[in-house]
Amino acid sequence: MRMSQLFVQTLREFPSDAEVISHKLLVRAGYIRKLANGIYNYLPLMWRVIKKVENIVREEMDRAGAQELLMPFVQPSELWQESGRWEVYGKELMRLKDRHSREMCLGPTHEEVITSIAREGIRSYKQLPVNLYQIQSKFRDEIRPRFGLLRGREFIMKDAYSFDASQEGLEKSYKIMWEAYTRIFERCGLETKAVQSDSGAIGGSISHEFMVLVNDKAENNAGENDVFYCSKCDYSANSNHAVSVLNSAETNGKFEKAQIIDTPDTGSIDELAKFLKVPSSVICKSLVYVIDGKYVVALIRGDRTIEETKLMNAFAGNEIRIARNDEIEEIMSASGFSAIPGFIGPKGLKNVEIIADETVRELKNFVIGINQTDKHLIGANWGIDVELPKKITDIRLVQEGDKCPCCNSDLKVTKGIEVGNIFQLGTKYSKAMNATFTDKDGQERPFIMGCYGIGITRTAAAAVERHHDEYGIIWPVSIAPYLVTVVPVSDIDEEQMNVATSIYNKLLEKGIEVLLDDRSERAGVKLKDADLIGIPYRITVGKLIKDNLVEFKIRANNETQTLTIDEAIEKICNIS
Ligand code: ATP
Ligand code: MG
Repeated sequence: MRMSQLFVQTLREFPSDAEVISHKLLVRAGYIRKLANGIYNYLPLMWRVIKKVENIVREEMDRAGAQELLMPFVQPSELWQESGRWEVYGKELMRLKDRHSREMCLGPTHEEVITSIAREGIRSYKQLPVNLYQIQSKFRDEIRPRFGLLRGREFIMKDAYSFDASQEGLEKSYKIMWEAYTRIFERCGLETKAVQSDSGAIGGSISHEFMVLVNDKAENNAGENDVFYCSKCDYSANSNHAVSVLNSAETNGKFEKAQIIDTPDTGSIDELAKFLKVPSSVICKSLVYVIDGKYVVALIRGDRTIEETKLMNAFAGNEIRIARNDEIEEIMSASGFSAIPGFIGPKGLKNVEIIADETVRELKNFVIGINQTDKHLIGANWGIDVELPKKITDIRLVQEGDKCPCCNSDLKVTKGIEVGNIFQLGTKYSKAMNATFTDKDGQERPFIMGCYGIGITRTAAAAVERHHDEYGIIWPVSIAPYLVTVVPVSDIDEEQMNVATSIYNKLLEKGIEVLLDDRSERAGVKLKDADLIGIPYRITVGKLIKDNLVEFKIRANNETQTLTIDEAIEKICNIS
């Protein structure tokens, strides 16, 4: 492709609304253009990258025995009602009505549709296992679309669904997908870590996320997930799922007698600990949440933090948020109290569910709120002064310094971008939607399902997060829009243009994806653009051609060599 004809506009500045480097660079280098919040045009260079990622995914999925199909983007609400998700999916599901007032939605994922396909198409165990996948646009009305392609509202996903006759079968399908994913991301030039994760709204029990770790750059906040991993063994998990062995902490408050004392202006745990001159680990913290519209008070040791996904899962909820002040007021007045946040406690509360993290169990002679502003109970003990809640489970966030649940070594934390995930769904959808097959023994059984997603556009953006420098993008060869760009230094020097064009034609003949920068721009502009756009190799045709020489540049390390024209061409042919 001749650059003079390529549809690309590079910008001098980064866009003002971009926070992370992949968003900044993809806009500035002319790959994407925003149409609306979280909705992007994929311009020709981007589309080439996307197709490369898609093809790698396709090849590896096919190799793993999966079959490609394409399901509709618009789905009828009836299927979602059958699965029970129409009510619970929340605002990410973009709902609309057709001209006959039938309710529809834009597909955020396709479990319902694929289950209806299997229900009709698979009758017997003899047809199993089957793995079906598609590569398609998805729409999710994300609450915070941001970071460009990393979290869009419309994005491209590969989603695959496996159907098996038994749990062992599912485990085998899962392993095959795990291996395919490992190869896919490797081929895309991305090192990933498979970490245990929460299964969220999709359901099921076992799931793993493939994370691109991005913590090595301190300024980088593109990794939206905290990943805890063991310094010794293989254990690693998303923070929403990670568990740990706690470090020992002081849990005996040493207050000899239970009494209510004045604790003015101690609305935070830090202020209270300072005021009482005690470690925060002898305070029982009470936090008010709203889970699917219901009030929940969660208790946890003062030095620890609630993990909201774990808390929500403890109530099999779908939406969680911290309660607003007016809601806390409402709880207080319903229970006959008037305390402000910071002084809340479980005792005497009406119309709320109470749950405690395991950390509160061992507290002795501790400090706790009693729903009176500027007062706390000190020297409290479970069963004597306050009832230990019946619902006690792990709802805490792991912290660095905690120990590995498998081997007791130190846990460390890093940031990750989730590029793909795999779920063992089990029978959640097949049971709800009555999708069954006849097993060997003649019995009707629900399919045992798995589902497997890869964010195609997110993977491309993650590649930019991992591979760039101060000059621009550095595409891995496997997903670069073009392999090489041929740049004549001067477009008015006829000989340079002739040599450049002849190199370009020779590479084209060999089937190589090559650009020729034939624009009448200053050399500096062309060379800067080549770096910004991130083409892996550059052949610069300048004055040296009088000796039959050109400059050969490798973008990955910015090294240049002087080669003869034939050597340069040969080198490129050997790479591709
Ligand atoms: P996240 O936790 O990041 O929202 P998810 O758990 O909702 O992801 P899935 O529903 O399993 O993700 O979707 C499969 C894959 O699709 C994810 O691994 C991710 O790569 C990609 N993906 C999900 N949401 C988005 C989005 N808003 N923009 C771009 N890619 C996305
Ligand atoms: Mg999501």
